[in-house]
Formats: sequence, C-alpha cells, structure tokens
Amino acid sequence: MIKKLGVAALSAGLIFSGISVTAASADGNNQMNNSSNNGDKTKNIIYMIPDGFNADYATNYRHFKGEDAVWDNHLKGMYSTYSADSNITDSAAAGTAMSTGVKTNNGTIGLDSDGNPKQTILEASQDKDMSTGLVATSTITHATPAAFGAHVEDRNNETEIARQLIDNEIDVLLGGGKNNFLPESEGGNQTEVNVLQQAEEQGYQLIENRNQLLEADIDLDSENLLGLFADDALAPEMHRNTEEEPSLAEMTQTAIDTLKNDEDGFFLMVEGSQIDWAGHDNDAAWAMTDVGAFEAAVQEAINFAKEDGNTLVVVGGDHETGGMTAGANGSGTANPELLHSVTATGENIAAELNDDRSNTSEVVSEYTDMEFSEEEIQSIQEAEDPKSAINAVISAKANVGWTSTNHTGVDIPVYAYGPGSDQFSGSLDNTDLPKIIAEAAEIELGGEISQNQPDDMKYTIKSGDTLFEIGLKYNYLWTTLQEINQFPNPHLIYPGDKVYFK
Ligand SMILES: [Zn+2]
Repeated sequence: MIKKLGVAALSAGLIFSGISVTAASADGNNQMNNSSNNGDKTKNIIYMIPDGFNADYATNYRHFKGEDAVWDNHLKGMYSTYSADSNITDSAAAGTAMSTGVKTNNGTIGLDSDGNPKQTILEASQDKDMSTGLVATSTITHATPAAFGAHVEDRNNETEIARQLIDNEIDVLLGGGKNNFLPESEGGNQTEVNVLQQAEEQGYQLIENRNQLLEADIDLDSENLLGLFADDALAPEMHRNTEEEPSLAEMTQTAIDTLKNDEDGFFLMVEGSQIDWAGHDNDAAWAMTDVGAFEAAVQEAINFAKEDGNTLVVVGGDHETGGMTAGANGSGTANPELLHSVTATGENIAAELNDDRSNTSEVVSEYTDMEFSEEEIQSIQEAEDPKSAINAVISAKANVGWTSTNHTGVDIPVYAYGPGSDQFSGSLDNTDLPKIIAEAAEIELGGEISQNQPDDMKYTIKSGDTLFEIGLKYNYLWTTLQEINQFPNPHLIYPGDKVYFK
C-alpha cells in the first residue's frame, strides 16, 4: 500500500516535471519559429473553408491523389461544430461561429440566437484598416461567404446578402451568383434594385470571365473588384469550362495579388463550396475532384505565405457532409483512386439517360472506365432516383461509404501554417477559430458593427422617405412592412421612427 502510494507520488512528480519540460520546449519552439520567421507578426490572414470536409475526406483524398495533400503536414487540432439549436450544424450557423466566435441557430447569418448582429472577423479586420476579400465556388451570397460579410436572419435571403456585401465595401468578391445582384427586369432576383450598378457606382470594377480575372489589375486605393462568373453557382470542377470560368486557385491567386499591397495587411476567406454539395449527393468522384480544386487554392495560399512570412493560413471545414467513410460495406480496402476514371457528376450522368433508361449501359461507360455488372445497370434502371443509384454504384466500387445525405456532427480537423499557427493545437470548438486568428493578428473581434450597412432589424426613417421606397431599397413589399410595423396609415410615417423588417 505504502509502496503503491510511493509509486503514485513518483509518477505524479514525473508527470509534473514532464509538463514543465514540455512547456519549456514549447517556448523554445516558439522562439525558433519566430526567428525562422524573422520575428514577424501575423499581418495577413487567409482563412480557407472546404465546406463539408473532414478527416475521412482527407484520407480518401490522400489515396485518390496517391500522395500527401498540401495540408497533411500542417494538421494542428480538431474542433466541435454543433450549433445553438442542433448538434448538427448547417453552413449558416457554422459560418457564423467561424466568423464571429458566437454560436447561433441553423439558417442564421451573422446574428446570435437572439437576433443581435455580431461583428465578423472580416469586419473587425476592416476596423483595423486591413483589406478584405471573399472567394467561393457557390454564389458569393451563399451561407459561408455571407457569414463573413452580412447579417440576416435567413440564409436564403441572398438578395439582401448581395446588397449587404456591397454596402459593406468588401474589397474583393469573387464567385458565382450574378442573378442575386440583378433586378428582375434583367432576369435577376432583386425585386427592383440593380446591385451591380450600385457596386459600379461605388467603385467596384465588374468582371465576368476568366480572362478578365487573370488580367485584373486593381488599385485598392481607388477601386474594388467584383467578379461574378456565373448567373448561379460556378460549375463543379469536373464540368468547368476552363476557358471561360476561373478555377478556385486562380480566383485565390488574383485575390491575394490584389490584397497583398495593403500595408495594414489583409483578411481573405476562400471557400471550396461544392465539396458539401457532392457530399449531399453522396457523389464520391465530385467530392474528390472538388477537394482537388480546393487543394490547388490552398497551395496558392501557402506559396504566398511562405514567400511573405507574415501570413497565417488556416484551413478547416465548417462541418462534415454525407458521413463519408474510407472503406465501406465490409470491404477490406478503400480504393478512391478508381474515381479518377469518372468524368461527370452523378447528376450529369443521370441527365443523359433516356426516358426508359434503355441507354444506361452506354451512358455510364461514356463517363467512366469502371465495369458495371448487369445487376448494377439494373439497379440504376429501376431506381426511383437514378442519380443516387449511379452515385451509389460508383462509391461502392471505390469502397467509399456514406451514412447520410445531410451534414453529420463529427469533429473537424484544423490545419494551419504561418505565424500563430501553433495556437490551433488540441481540442477546440468552431467558435475558437476566429478568436485565435484575431489574437494572432491583433484584431479586436466583438466590437460594434461600424460598416455602412442596412440594419436587418430596423431602419430609421429619414425626411422625405416613403414606405414604398424603403420597401424597394430593402426588397420588401410596402404592405409587408406596414403589417410588420402595424403602421395605421402607410402615408403617415415620421422621420426618426424605426421600420422593423421582422
Ligand atoms: Zn450542406
């Protein structure tokens, strides 16, 4: 008994001294890192979000690629992703947590769960006079980019998000979704306002194809850059018209080139948006090729960070999608490398099937070298949803498993490179990420939102305003505003009074 106590005491002593040794060497490492970075500070932030990506995507991608991915060397820790109202988050709540450090309800952008607008890390960077940018392969008004530059109750209100991104004067915006900026009269989704025109008047240079992006030469002192390369989302990487539409890496490169001249530094968020969509479809080939496109963008960021020495690159998904596994259905091996022979998404392959699906065999062999058995062809012909059936057969051949068509609640790995990157180690929460970034770059997160943006909650009536005009400006019917605000007479509104939008 006494001996055992002695052993325990001894172990405790060893553990204790072990801690102090570790702490000492961690300090030593920091000094080494600092000296290898010439003692430089974190001046620029490149925050990269592969939507839907987690450790199983990382493993499958490594096998698909045949070697380590660019991030594999930079793994730091993991974080939880639950939202305020569910243990499975959506991209709006996850993006808000990753941008503001505050948990919110699924569907909500840039507000806490009580509806209060929260300052994002991008806005806090603007307050420090840093330049800012958002890049995505979805519409630029989609949940993840929106969570950095807008505050709205409903992620689907992409027209309001478009107006706020421009009002917020984000220096570089690159992605899809031109229709969310154009008025209905020009085929867009805005009831009345032409946000593209408004952006141009505000000093944005508008571009809409790959060549214009590659030639863009923006002086941020006098102009900003708005590149919208598709009416809706950009194409999946495997279907991208490489002449017309830029890659995610090319958009990232132009964003960095444009932002890097700011002496105060820059904040850039880059999203690989469609990894998530591939996950929802359980489309393993789309998932791997879009992870590949995202990796090329991360490579651009790390190349710049290496050269620059003052840039922190942080890479982490907002949640996992599809419950992907490396290995499936009792297989003893995983073979995602077989997915290289697939040249179209399940959705695009299914679109080629004729009405009675008698051409299934020819169609699938046109888009993959994989051999399909009679039963597999039959399963596609008889399926209620041929897209899902095609994706299921292809995933099974590659032994990539799926357990959901929605997001899952698993923890997500975080990768980081550059000054401050060591602070992401261990077990974190998604709300920790913006806080760690802010601390590394000496950005004050959590301040008042100082940008000139329409408050989603209320508008203060100015002299000469009519409810009709306020409605036009913020995309609400005046009758809706009258109802929400219970104005007895819509013609009698008074300067200084508030108009609420919910
Ligand atoms: Zn999703």
